[in-house]
Amino acid sequence: MQADDWRAVDDYIAERLLGDDSVLDAALAANAAGGLPAIDVSPVQGKMLHLLARGMGARRILEIGTLGGYSTIWLARALPADGRLVTLELEPRHADVARGNIARAGLSDRVEVRVGAANDTLQQMIANKEEPFDFIFVDADKEGYPAYLRAALQLSRPGTMLVFDNVVREGGVIDPDHADPRVHGVRALFEALAAEPRLSATAVQTVGAKKWDGFALAIVA
Ligand code: SAM
Repeated sequence: MQADDWRAVDDYIAERLLGDDSVLDAALAANAAGGLPAIDVSPVQGKMLHLLARGMGARRILEIGTLGGYSTIWLARALPADGRLVTLELEPRHADVARGNIARAGLSDRVEVRVGAANDTLQQMIANKEEPFDFIFVDADKEGYPAYLRAALQLSRPGTMLVFDNVVREGGVIDPDHADPRVHGVRALFEALAAEPRLSATAVQTVGAKKWDGFALAIVA
């Protein structure tokens, strides 16, 4: 019953503060039609990411984990007309659906979907000395989070905000003997965040349509 209550409150918030959004509805429908798993951020979480990126005046955004581009659209809408968002996705099928959704959202001019294992793409980006990003959202394989943090730091500038999704895992994060390797990925992320003197970080637990989970947030000094 608790999960039903959380979803009802998410719906209440969304109805009052988000309004109708045919573009995002169409993106979710295209994801379902394409057989993508429904593991996108929730609408209220998407709006939160949008507000964070917009509030800091982000002009360059990096996303790790595109799926069908739902969070990508929320984030890209925070950019100015000459802003840029690069999003990394392992699965070509997910990337194809995302490109369609991003085109329908009218954002293809500022969003680039790069296909491949994020670690490889990130190493190429570092080697190519790509311009630093203002906002980095990490939402791919949780086992990779410590490596994504290391790469994100190399693609950051002082003031860059880093956001990692799904770091609470229904409370699993506090269990050192948990059977799920994803829990060990987020636990290693917490250790790495704590050990990095260039970062000021916290994490917030969330409940809602996506059950009990949370985001870690950090700013690069
Ligand atoms: N951010 C998306 C949203 O809210 O709309 C959801 C992303 S979904 C939780 C995670 C995505 O990361 C999946 O599409 C998956 O294929 C992708 N992924 C998993 N491992 C990856 C890797 N090693 N490199 C890049 N993408 C990966």
